[in-house]
Amino acid sequence: MFRTAIPLGRWAGIAVRAHWSVLVVLLLITDLLASAALPRAAPGASPGWYWVTGLLTAAGFLASLLLHEFSHAAVARRHGVEVKRITLWMLGGAAELEDEPATPKADFRIAVAGPVTSALIGMVGLGAAVLLAEVVPPLPVSALAWLGVGNLALAMVNLLPGAPLDGGRMLRAAIWARRGDRARAGTVAGRVGQVLGAALGIAGLAQLLLSGRLAGLGLVLLGWFQIFAAQAEFAAGPLRERLGGVRVREIMNPSPTVAPGWWTVDAFAEHAAGAGHDRVFPVLSFDGVPVGVVSLGDLIRVSADARRATTVADVARKDQAVTVVGADAHVTELMKRVFLRHGRDLVLVTESSALAGVVGAGDLARAVELATLGHRPRASDLR
Ligand SMILES: [Zn+2]
Repeated sequence: MFRTAIPLGRWAGIAVRAHWSVLVVLLLITDLLASAALPRAAPGASPGWYWVTGLLTAAGFLASLLLHEFSHAAVARRHGVEVKRITLWMLGGAAELEDEPATPKADFRIAVAGPVTSALIGMVGLGAAVLLAEVVPPLPVSALAWLGVGNLALAMVNLLPGAPLDGGRMLRAAIWARRGDRARAGTVAGRVGQVLGAALGIAGLAQLLLSGRLAGLGLVLLGWFQIFAAQAEFAAGPLRERLGGVRVREIMNPSPTVAPGWWTVDAFAEHAAGAGHDRVFPVLSFDGVPVGVVSLGDLIRVSADARRATTVADVARKDQAVTVVGADAHVTELMKRVFLRHGRDLVLVTESSALAGVVGAGDLARAVELATLGHRPRASDLR
């Protein structure tokens, strides 16, 4: 949906982008303000002033939308969850979290921050309009009042209790806190979101047909988006639920071909040629401690005449370049942390700092495919 977004740089370490549909919204709001709302509220100004004020007000509204998203990001950060990026688009904004909040309390706080921010901006806008009404010309006062009302409306729409709206996330957090099951809570909030979307769509359609008001079209659009987005949230549920309890131990390969770090590249290449089907290997130190990962591709990069003098440990990827997890870690947590390339990457699985096994791209894909088929992957001795 957001593939054609325009990057707007990094703000406070968070990448901000805008989908081209934001331009449409900017123009629609400007037009609504300049040709109808402002002339009605503050008559007597020249058309040019209405357009300039309309454009500035529309831009101000988009800026307050951005503040709404940044408030989600700031609270998420305080709870140890990084934000990948913020995207503005036709029907609002989206702050994409790097991770899911660890507790229902954090989940609730991150969600509620947005509507609270919008409500505050709304009250400040309306308050300023009231205070300045005597000293400032009516046109800027009307613009401030409109910004205030717009932000209050934004806060209210976002409080509707269906995922993926903020209210839906708050509902999820509340159910999660009561029942102790995040995945289940997400599914319920997703369902409520679909019902809400259908209700909004029907209300919009009725308004469009009965009164002929174009505002109904906005509701239909919002309802349609709501059903669509709630479905995505809902669809993610069952798979996560099934993989939720699966541990790395159950999907790892417990007996991979290992690469002794002190061997030469040449000696290990000869050994690998006759040892199974692997293209990527865990590297062990002389004391049997897993120290890195090496692939046949890494060995190829050593020039032919250096292969007898270079050790496997010299070319292995180590430290930050390699993911190490405990055998009891959850597969879903691992999936959030790594992207594995076939034949290139490997996750080292350890148990009391010794190598217990490895997880490759194929193992993760297999776990997802089995979960989609409704089966739980389990450790097997048929490898
Ligand atoms: Zn929000």
